[in-house]
Amino acid sequence: MQLYIAGGCGDQGRNCFYIEGDRHAFIVDAGTSTDGLDRLPDLSPEMIRRAEYLFVTHSHKDHTGAIEYLENNGFTGSVLMSNQTYQQIHYKPKNTMILDSTAPELSLDGELSLRWGRTGHCAGAVWYYITVDGKRLFFSGDYRENDTFYRCDAVRGLTADLAVIDSAYSRMDRAEDMRKAVADAAKDALAAGGPLLFPVPSYGRGLSMAMLFYQTFGEAHPIHMTAKLRGQWLRLGHRSYFAHEEILDYPFDIFQSWDETTLEDGHIYFLTDAQLAKAKSRQLIDSHPELSVLMTGSLHGYGKAKSYYESGRAAFVLWPNHLTKQETADLAVANDFSLVVPFHNPKEKPETDVYSF
Ligand SMILES: [Zn+2]
Ligand SMILES: [Zn+2]
Repeated sequence: MQLYIAGGCGDQGRNCFYIEGDRHAFIVDAGTSTDGLDRLPDLSPEMIRRAEYLFVTHSHKDHTGAIEYLENNGFTGSVLMSNQTYQQIHYKPKNTMILDSTAPELSLDGELSLRWGRTGHCAGAVWYYITVDGKRLFFSGDYRENDTFYRCDAVRGLTADLAVIDSAYSRMDRAEDMRKAVADAAKDALAAGGPLLFPVPSYGRGLSMAMLFYQTFGEAHPIHMTAKLRGQWLRLGHRSYFAHEEILDYPFDIFQSWDETTLEDGHIYFLTDAQLAKAKSRQLIDSHPELSVLMTGSLHGYGKAKSYYESGRAAFVLWPNHLTKQETADLAVANDFSLVVPFHNPKEKPETDVYSF
């Protein structure tokens, strides 16, 4: 059996893995690049036609941006994803199979079966453990154990011939250290006296960070969020499938809805425009010199977040919603994986794009 890396290793986004055995072929994720060029996965027309399934780990563009391209280029198989992922993506695949969260095991045919679990990266994100033609394969997707908001079905004691594992951050510390750095940076920024802004993606770390700040600062620094993010809080915050047990008891009004205009000193604001792609977001920042801006995720090729950071107008501190190199190693040790292929790290390119196992 062979794994072809069609993107996602030593790459900016574009996560895509093609697996072919004697009897079955499938793809895990079909993302476009995040460098602003929307580069497509390196898949031949034969691979696209041969693949019977596309397993989608979560909604983010670096995992789903090329689904339409696959369908327009001969892919006629089923696209598997969670219900939350389906709701979040803009392009709806023609032939979608929604994973049933009450029965996280599925047999697609006698020789291809799978199990999945929540990864803790965002609502609807799943990992896959696939058994095919006698081989066992694990795909972590974007993976984050112990997130402050999202539940993760931690992967322990799995045996796999191949494991493709999130290893987005080259650093050798762990999430606790990174979350503490974010809380400290927020504390420092708020000490300056003005309001504090966090540009975040529509689906992902916003609720996790808001939860950390609420747990750290209590009522001292009221937390506001755009209607889009607060809508998710209302939908997900009291559903035990996504959120941790202790969160379910918090009242909804610990996070307030924000009109994206009003700013008060000492308050925290979440703006769902991580890359500052909208002119309105930039106007808000430009017209409020007293507003501190903290970027907490990768700065992509589209939008203007990068230039705000480079000019010094925005500060940067990384929020962990992927694994560090240390945590990738931790996960490998906690399981029995014969071959580990780290992915999602733009700086680390493997020696080969093809693995036989
Ligand atoms: Zn993601
Ligand atoms: Zn990703």
